[in-house]
Amino acid sequence: MTRPYTIGIVGGGQLARMMHQASIGLGVRVRLLAEGPDVSAAQVVRDVTVGDYTDREQLLAFASGCDVITFDHEHVPVHLLRAVEEAGVAVRPGPDALVHAQDKAVMRARMAALGMPNPQFEVCERAEQLVAFGERTGWPVIAKISRGGYDGKGVWKIDGPGQAAEPFEVIRQAGSTVDGGTISREGVVIVAEEFVAFTRELSCVVARSPQGQAVAYPVTETVQTGGICTETISPAPGLSDDQASELQHLALRIAGELGVVGLLAVELMQRQDGSVVVNELAMRPHNTAHWTIDGAATSQFENHLRAVLDLPLGDPGLNAQHVVMTNVLGGSEEDLTGALQHVFARDRRIRVHLYGKDVKPGRKVGHVTATGADLAEVTKRARHAAGYLMGDPNA
Ligand code: ADP
Repeated sequence: MTRPYTIGIVGGGQLARMMHQASIGLGVRVRLLAEGPDVSAAQVVRDVTVGDYTDREQLLAFASGCDVITFDHEHVPVHLLRAVEEAGVAVRPGPDALVHAQDKAVMRARMAALGMPNPQFEVCERAEQLVAFGERTGWPVIAKISRGGYDGKGVWKIDGPGQAAEPFEVIRQAGSTVDGGTISREGVVIVAEEFVAFTRELSCVVARSPQGQAVAYPVTETVQTGGICTETISPAPGLSDDQASELQHLALRIAGELGVVGLLAVELMQRQDGSVVVNELAMRPHNTAHWTIDGAATSQFENHLRAVLDLPLGDPGLNAQHVVMTNVLGGSEEDLTGALQHVFARDRRIRVHLYGKDVKPGRKVGHVTATGADLAEVTKRARHAAGYLMGDPNA
């Protein structure tokens, strides 16, 4: 690699914006391939190319001159990533790992092969297969689009045979817009999963470098509302040290087996009896570890960059007893300045991160983080600040 290193980030959302923030202290250069001139990260990065990451020529031109390419999202087709590698630019995480975050059918098969806690599952190309799966394992079942789903879009709870056709209908209409998310038809199947009666969701985020050094962040409890992560609590309450370290080892083992370079987030569903099932994998900075900016010795964004640059990784440990992050979703107020006046005046230790996005109802526009020794109080502070920014003065 040449110095200063140039990291190419594909995708200009808030994750790229926060990676850029971490890059400043590392003295590296960021080049951004953005969807538009005003997206979240394009507002702050100097070297921006507006382009289409699915276009081979545009992607190669962007990558040329970068030391390494990494991602704000997981949607770049693997054959294009191989072309970038063939052109001599490192891709981290590489295509062989990334495919497990892109394709739920591939991910489930691999988790089963590795003996990871998996739900019963079956890859279905027709509604009859989904019906047969439900009859065999019991209704309801969960049906997921193998590729292209996000934030709970492309996931259905199927209560009985009468509802089994819908996911396949969506694939048939591929290319059309499904709840705002475009789902492409090529190679898309439905993954049927046993319905897991979970009582909470957990996330374990690890970072791994090309040399194989790896660190695990404390296990986090995540609260999802309407398919979107709205709150995280770190460390996850009620986990014994043994349970937490078991889950960290599980995530580290997945990262090692899959050859992940950079961050891996393992989303888990936990049942009443404490047992867990892997829900999905993400290979990029993750909403469930935004708390690390203010609550850990080294943020996930910095460790992601260190990992892709093959620098030694930083301490992932907590720097407070409890850390609560609450997402700020767009509310009634478009201008957040007035709300900031209140939030900062009331709580001098609250940390606010806004993403520079236009406020639209329900859209993730930022997050807040509170830290402290009393979990109830920390939670209240985070919820109040986020609620106020969302237009609810009584939060
Ligand atoms: P996305 O890729 O859109 O985030 P996920 O695979 O994470 O989709 O599923 C979205 C949500 O659906 C999960 O957060 C969880 O609440 C629920 N879910 C997913 N799989 C199952 C399952 N097998 N059983 C029960 N609920 C599930």
